[in-house]
Amino acid sequence: MGFVFDTIKAIKKDLPTQVKLVAVSKFHPIEAIQEAYDAGQRIFGESRMQEIDKKHTALPQDIEWHFIGHLQTNKVKSIVPYIHTVQSLDSWKLMDEIEKHASRIDKRIRCLLEVHIAEEDAKYGFSFEKCKQFLEEGLWKDCKYAYLGGVMGMATNTDNHEKIKEEFRSLKIFFEEIKENYFSDNDEFSEISMGMSDDYKLAIEEGSTMVRIGSSIFGNREY
Ligand SMILES: *Cc1c(COP(=O)(O)O)cnc(C)c1O
Repeated sequence: MGFVFDTIKAIKKDLPTQVKLVAVSKFHPIEAIQEAYDAGQRIFGESRMQEIDKKHTALPQDIEWHFIGHLQTNKVKSIVPYIHTVQSLDSWKLMDEIEKHASRIDKRIRCLLEVHIAEEDAKYGFSFEKCKQFLEEGLWKDCKYAYLGGVMGMATNTDNHEKIKEEFRSLKIFFEEIKENYFSDNDEFSEISMGMSDDYKLAIEEGSTMVRIGSSIFGNREY
């Protein structure tokens, strides 16, 4: 077995038991994903519809596929049959579309609220304020198939560990606040997805329950 196999084993060994590993396989070939699968990995993250469409048919059917990139509403129909979690929910329009297609095939789909915590300008993701507004408006409560399972965030790309930790901390605090206000009796709202190759150890220190690791496992992506 090769590098991917060994890295999956090594990372898993070091993760606290409550932290799930999402292996981010975007831009990497099917053989690399199969190698990670053979090492026991079952959760994979992808960010493009065409790519995940192709990969999911070629790979074992018990893989839990997470969509982690920006998802356009016109792509929802295609991925709903095989997607487990959409980590990048950032609008009611998107949730409504997931609900519509999931209901047609009687399937529940977990959605994580993508919250913008980094200092860099972001095109996607809720601000804390917009996210609260979304929760307060309450349209999501009528969804029966698309359901909210937690939050997802990305820290600023910087060497300043204190800054990264502060951003992760802000997401954890936000999670606790909305958990108390909207999901206190809902065990499904439980995930804080934060931490990537360069910062996942910091994220775990700040309460991450799910890390999304790509390049550390699969090497650098071919763009
Ligand atoms: C690409 C990506 C990752 C993985 O990043 P690495 O630095 O390769 O570990 C994690 N989360 C999201 C949302 C991504 O787009």
